[in-house]
Amino acid sequence: MAQEFVCMQCDLTEEKCKCDRYCCLCMGGHNVRLCQDGQYYCIDCREACDFQAQF
Ligand SMILES: [Zn+2]
Ligand SMILES: [Zn+2]
Repeated sequence: MAQEFVCMQCDLTEEKCKCDRYCCLCMGGHNVRLCQDGQYYCIDCREACDFQAQF
């Protein structure tokens, strides 16, 4: 899957995004990754929502 997720706030990829990263569901900062809807999710919420981080 070559689709690149971009941050909803700045339209940049996770690599280039300089936004403050925290989970948009629980506001936690543990292992937060950009997901397909352009928002950041922690590992727990990703698993709960069945979201996949890029690569
Ligand atoms: Zn951003
Ligand atoms: Zn979370």
